[in-house]
Amino acid sequence: MAVYAAAAGVLAGVESRQGSIKGLVYSSNFQNVKQLYALVCETQRYSAVLDAVIASAGLLRAEKKLRPHLAKVLVYELLLGKGFRGGGGRWKALLGRHQARLKAELARLKVHRGVSRNEDLLEVGSRPGPASQLPRFVRVNTLKTCSDDVVDYFKRKGFSYQGRASSADDLRALKGKRFLLDPVVPELLAFPAQTDLHEHPLYRAGHLILQDRASCLPAMLLDPPPGSHVIDACAAPGNKTSHLAALLKNQGKIFAFDLDAKRLSSMATLLARAGVSCCELAEDDFLAVSPSDPRYSQVRYILLDPSCSGSGMQSRQLEEPGARTPSPERLHALAGFQQRALCHALTFPSLQRLVYSTCSLCQEENEDVVRGALQQNPGAFRLAPVLPTWPLRGLSRFPGAEHCLRASPETTLSGGFFVAVIERVEAPSSASQAEASAPECTPSPAPKRKKRRRQAAADAHTLPGT
Ligand code: SAM
Repeated sequence: MAVYAAAAGVLAGVESRQGSIKGLVYSSNFQNVKQLYALVCETQRYSAVLDAVIASAGLLRAEKKLRPHLAKVLVYELLLGKGFRGGGGRWKALLGRHQARLKAELARLKVHRGVSRNEDLLEVGSRPGPASQLPRFVRVNTLKTCSDDVVDYFKRKGFSYQGRASSADDLRALKGKRFLLDPVVPELLAFPAQTDLHEHPLYRAGHLILQDRASCLPAMLLDPPPGSHVIDACAAPGNKTSHLAALLKNQGKIFAFDLDAKRLSSMATLLARAGVSCCELAEDDFLAVSPSDPRYSQVRYILLDPSCSGSGMQSRQLEEPGARTPSPERLHALAGFQQRALCHALTFPSLQRLVYSTCSLCQEENEDVVRGALQQNPGAFRLAPVLPTWPLRGLSRFPGAEHCLRASPETTLSGGFFVAVIERVEAPSSASQAEASAPECTPSPAPKRKKRRRQAAADAHTLPGT
């Protein structure tokens, strides 16, 4: 199916409330989901402008067979987009007959509104905000390559490497063909906002993963050592799973669950492209996964990134302008599921460390869920203090909430995000009780090694000013 017909189908589906742009793009079976998603979002953004131009040019009256959604996509591409791509020949001829009139109507609209740029025709709110000015973050997939090789590659292609950023201000100042290493997330490169790597051969080959900065935090903070058994409870489409696999060096096991078959199938493609070989995918309800199943007896790490309102996602604002403030009923339902999923995860018998994350801004889905789960397990788990220099902390709704992290375009150059790291409170063993009462004590080797490793990770990730 040509991209224009697919985009028109998605727009029609969104209008008749069959689903969100993202959901309908995934279920369209169109191969290049990124291309389709971008085209639909941009057409939607300019929807009012396109309606006005199409109406005043009389396009639909003249071309009776042209459906309105397809007309909108085509006119977007002709006047505002990149020009016709796949399947463009047929439509080019049709629109060619109206091109002069359509262009004139667009020019007239600009004169009428007293603006000179296409972007100025947009309503405030659908103009590019901070998110579109954020650096483009690219995670180097260490299952396939390493940062040094990627840096050398881009240098050979004419980019100028500036080393590791020392602060978020360095990232904000990126322009031209410069790029940097992120100051907090290892293996994360930052390019200027206009950089588009969607068609880049290194991305297509799975050497690079295009990932929001904050969405790299969950796997980084879970930090499972190679050989560990990990559960990724709500895993699709799998960017965090592939990050976990990279940290594990493909050694150990990831049990990844998701309810949505279509998202799982995209995930299988993504993982194959990323060279992930340590992951078992299952189309299962995580709430029905039994913690007493012997297969999960060695699971010490769980990543829980459940469905949420998405109120922190900039793209969601585009699809549903009210998404920043989901209804109380929706919030209640989402928070109920999130709370059940978190409490369920905490019942896995060998669990040591869990990361809970959402791309929501709502306290009900974030701090309240974490507080509820800790209250239901008194004394058994606590919030781990992580990334002390990360500037945005959890809302102080309960003691310790400052250990949670929040993220925003303005402060941390990412989508709106929330992360909490929960760790089991070790019951003092009889051995350590004896050590504590001995005049001189030598910590046992295993905990000492573990502690050093965490500390090293914390040091590496806590450069000031991010
Ligand atoms: N962690 C993913 C990533 O980084 O690519 C994104 C996960 S997305 C926020 C939430 C996922 O949870 C959706 O794919 C949804 O299908 C899945 N989900 C919702 N309810 C679930 C359940 N009860 N069990 C397993 N997965 C579920």
